[in-house]
Amino acid sequence: MSAESPLTRAADPVLPSERRTAARARMLVCLRGVTKRYRTAEIETTALAGIDLEIAAGAFIAVMGPSGCGKSTLLNIVGLIDSPSSGECHFGQHEVSRFPESKLAELRKGNIGFIFQSFNLIADLNVWRNVELPLVYQGVPRARRRDLVLEALDRVGLGARAKHMPDQLSGGQQQRVAFARAVVGNPRLILADEPTGNLDTKSGETIMWMLKALNEQGTTILMVTHSASHAARAHCVLSLSDGRIVATRRPSAQGHASGHAGALVG
Ligand code: ADP
Repeated sequence: MSAESPLTRAADPVLPSERRTAARARMLVCLRGVTKRYRTAEIETTALAGIDLEIAAGAFIAVMGPSGCGKSTLLNIVGLIDSPSSGECHFGQHEVSRFPESKLAELRKGNIGFIFQSFNLIADLNVWRNVELPLVYQGVPRARRRDLVLEALDRVGLGARAKHMPDQLSGGQQQRVAFARAVVGNPRLILADEPTGNLDTKSGETIMWMLKALNEQGTTILMVTHSASHAARAHCVLSLSDGRIVATRRPSAQGHASGHAGALVG
């Protein structure tokens, strides 16, 4: 990757100041030297070992790597679910690495939506209530909630299933409900942790198509996947190994891997 690549350009300290300012303005997430260690009585595990990553607003990034390399930990930190052991973590204008949980939760609301491999729907709430839940937490008034839930369910083609319980739906339908729940508050960032991992090929394609369409409308996406063909829909693929970013590449340049340990992506 050349020094002029758009993947790394804004991280270059020799940029003219007006270009640095413009690059900062479109930055949504910035991690600098982020580590995460887990300690138990017997052992210490280093899940992230020094991550430098800048995600521009509007980017679609795939994260790949073997089990245990730190992908979910990275998503949890970017998603403000967890805090780093050391390093800096910026979300928008906020440096959040030392934020208490209450402030992280406040910032997550309306800004970040999550899609998980196992859907994580609430079993005893129907489809409508599952999708409505983030809006309830955000304090959105009832009439506005109704409009937004209807819109989100229409978007995933499940308007007719609003009263169904999760266990009355197929896996593909459940993931579409989870997608609707993630996007209902119109968040700036969607974090998807193996969103097609439990789906058949056709349902997986539907979810990928919906993610791509969402990104084309401006939502930033960070997606963990084991599927090379799904990663190819992203603008950029990060490869993780032992808690480090060991390569970044454009999917169009399959097989090319740079040695950069961090990237501005988007
Ligand atoms: P991946 O998503 O790539 O499979 P993870 O981010 O889940 O990797 O985990 C990275 C490493 O951190 C693994 O060795 C895992 O066992 C460890 N780890 C993750 N979460 C915890 C935790 N809560 N407590 C202890 N170790 C953890």
